Amino acid sequence: MSVIRHFIAGHETALAERTGPVFNPATGAQQHEVAFASVDEVEQAIAAAEAALPGWRATGLIKRADVFFRLRQLLAERKSELAAIVTSEHGKVLSDAAGEVSRGIENVEFAAGLVHLLKGEHSEQVARGVDVHSLKQPVGVVGAITPFNFPVMVPLWMVASAIACGNTVVLKPSEKDPSAAVFIAKLFQEAGLPDGVLNVVHGDKVAVDTILDSPTVRAISFVGSTPIAKSIYERASQNGKRVQALGGAKNHMVVMPDADLDGAADAAVSAAYGSAGERCMAVSVLVAVGDEVADQIVAKVAERMSKLTIGDGTDDASEMGPLITREHRDRVASYVTGAAAEGATVVVDGTAAEFEGGGFFVGTSLLDHVEPGMKVYEDEIFGPVLAVVRVANYDEAVALINANRFANGVAVFTRDGGTARQFEFDIEVGMVGVNVPIPVPVGAYSFGGWKDSLFGDSHIYGPESIHFYTRSKVVTSRWPQPSESQINLGFPSNH
Ligand code: NAD
Repeated sequence: MSVIRHFIAGHETALAERTGPVFNPATGAQQHEVAFASVDEVEQAIAAAEAALPGWRATGLIKRADVFFRLRQLLAERKSELAAIVTSEHGKVLSDAAGEVSRGIENVEFAAGLVHLLKGEHSEQVARGVDVHSLKQPVGVVGAITPFNFPVMVPLWMVASAIACGNTVVLKPSEKDPSAAVFIAKLFQEAGLPDGVLNVVHGDKVAVDTILDSPTVRAISFVGSTPIAKSIYERASQNGKRVQALGGAKNHMVVMPDADLDGAADAAVSAAYGSAGERCMAVSVLVAVGDEVADQIVAKVAERMSKLTIGDGTDDASEMGPLITREHRDRVASYVTGAAAEGATVVVDGTAAEFEGGGFFVGTSLLDHVEPGMKVYEDEIFGPVLAVVRVANYDEAVALINANRFANGVAVFTRDGGTARQFEFDIEVGMVGVNVPIPVPVGAYSFGGWKDSLFGDSHIYGPESIHFYTRSKVVTSRWPQPSESQINLGFPSNH
């Protein structure tokens, strides 16, 4: 069985003393082993990044930008190949995997504008003969730790901007679907990125902790579940690093009585069950305003669910693939089986669906009369399960959402502009959709939630990433004639 290896200083390498299995979730069969890095191997990757730093930060901005223009082209040309890798290890359907690559390309396009993005400011004549200008300089070696659910897009969220800013990177992708990260690193190399600027190490907590504890690593970008995000944030900040740690989610979609209910039902089904609900921006709670809306939308969603095709992601007919592992599938199913005992109404029980072969499939589920306090409401299930919470009015909908500990994405479905505008104003969530169920911002804006969905001050990709991956320096300068110099022990004043 082939071993997926690290990519350090431009070469694939691995001792492979410890390994983990990589499955094909559609068949349940193990297809690869992935090397789990030792402390020594991670330190080699960090040393490679450190060695590449002086050369890369000194590389001219136009030459740096060239790498991103070439990478964009390569990613577009190899999109279907990359999508096939994602489908084989993650399980999402091919069209969804291709969509993920396209969204990742947006981050590369943003990074290609680095000449503009890295501009500083200049103030002439702040005092007689004195000018001030600011510089944006790289932070140094960046550690990037990514989750299983977007093995192409989330690494690109981080590495595109980090490298554009002149940093070098050690990326630790998810051990569940690790091949895409190595594929991307090789494309970067083909696009002209010098060896050592982007290194990939595979593995588990050993690899992550080595990155978090290394004094050479200056900043950490993490995306994953909330408990791990919190612990990463705490450990890395205790070690004096800059950290952004994006966590889990429970995304609500409010359906107002004036909404187009057919459109809202289409959106709910797409956003709840796309990628088998394994998206941090998946809609997992539908908030129906009024019983009449609730009864109608539950019926419309259930009817649409019955027509979904679930199967191997490589089959063009499949709209939804399997979950990532057997354990995760069983965990998702346990929420559905426990829902009735909690007081919810199980409208569609996806655990009853039968699938041939050993794939990690589960059917889609719909739960009605869900309430705060129930596990199916409080926990991030991360599977194809949609919970409907009934509220009496707009104020109750807002109060429900604002009381939730997660605050990644939210959506409101309405035809009333005033309601939509008030919702934007009232809601305590980082990303808001108005008649858009999955409001992942375009690459020119930054992505991030609030509360337990993000630890740190900085959102990811887009303009905030330039701030996160650079240190600013302010230079005050004066070019006096030799005769003008004089001793002055007073505090320098511009007046
Ligand atoms: P995870 O937290 O289990 O793993 C994320 C990364 O952390 C992986 O690389 C993993 O190897 C590593 N890791 C796991 N346990 C660790 C430990 N104890 N110590 C150190 N490192 C550890 O997350 P996942 O299951 O891969 O991904 C799904 C989660 O990611 C969901 O909660 C989802 O909401 C979240 N997510 C959030 C966003 C966002 O933007 N907020 C985006 C995508 C996914």
